[in-house]
Amino acid sequence: MTSPPHDAANAERDPGPVLPEVKMHLHMPATPGTGVVVGSERCTRPKSAGFVRHVSIRVEGTQLAGNFRPGQSFGVIPPGVDAHGRPHKVRLYSIASPSRGEDGRGTVIATTVKRALFEDPETHKLRLGVASNFLCDLRVGDSVQVTGPSGKRFVLPANAGAHDYVFFATGTGIAPFRGMILDLLEAGTPSKIALVMGVPYANDLIYDEELRRLAARSANFRYLTALSRERQEDGGDSMYVQDRLRSHRDELAAVLSSARGLVYVCGLSGMELGVLQGLARALKPDALERYLHVDGAAGAPDSWERTMIHKLVRPTRRVFMEVY
Ligand code: NAP
Repeated sequence: MTSPPHDAANAERDPGPVLPEVKMHLHMPATPGTGVVVGSERCTRPKSAGFVRHVSIRVEGTQLAGNFRPGQSFGVIPPGVDAHGRPHKVRLYSIASPSRGEDGRGTVIATTVKRALFEDPETHKLRLGVASNFLCDLRVGDSVQVTGPSGKRFVLPANAGAHDYVFFATGTGIAPFRGMILDLLEAGTPSKIALVMGVPYANDLIYDEELRRLAARSANFRYLTALSRERQEDGGDSMYVQDRLRSHRDELAAVLSSARGLVYVCGLSGMELGVLQGLARALKPDALERYLHVDGAAGAPDSWERTMIHKLVRPTRRVFMEVY
């Protein structure tokens, strides 16, 4: 769910970055386009307990071709009917590709799909999420009904090179950031870019090799990981993404210290509060106020609760959050 509009007083003080005009709803559920799968690879290490795939779909000949941005979503309509005999509804997936698509021509879009698995509490039988398993089961050459694109607020700004970025992702929340970071690096912008990626174990890191490669050859891109259920590569304790604002405070605060700074957050809903608390602890008051307006009644960050967000703890237009 994208954050609600920011409050008027904040917007007046700092209108934030200008967002681009993006195309929306070119294919509605009643008039889907037909895509064809051109690739499907696991994008974690083989020993990961989860199954996450990078699924690439050729959308040539549909309205989606050339008309999407990373951070937007596209819809997938699984074939068949649900338990009530009704056709399956559209499910939205985040576009993980840069604006040029996977193929450089904007005709192949990719998403990052994790197979949803549940245990039925009564029967103890394994149940599979319909759309994620449909997408992950698809083979090269298979067709898929697609809609969209949708979403206009969780995208890079129009003048992307005029900003510096800290991206916080948990799990498949990395999807939009892969595309955005590729867009930024390929444009050769001077932007400072930091990505903090959180997963349970190192084996669960998504796009890890690609991101390491990009970081190794891009002086302006820093890639940090946060493993929540094992020690870090450098021996540090297990941590969440927001804890990198403590362990790498100087580095991350430096990216956010000027009027160029933007924060993007995508993944589990629980991370939202943690990242805002982390920013409040890491940034000096003059830097913090670009990202967060904190009502005196909110108290110290340690005492903040999720219900205070957008009421007593108000992210500014420089903070983009898409959490579920
Ligand atoms: P996952 O692999 O389970 O990783 C999630 C990580 O976040 C784990 O390390 C988890 O730690 C950690 N975490 C849990 N609570 C946290 C908190 N309060 N603060 C910070 N980190 C916390 O993730 P996943 O299964 O892929 O799930 C990703 C989520 O992203 C899904 O809910 C998905 O819907 C969402 N998503 C959103 C978009 C979008 O909005 N466009 C796109 C893609 C994905 P522990 O489990 O060890 O506590």
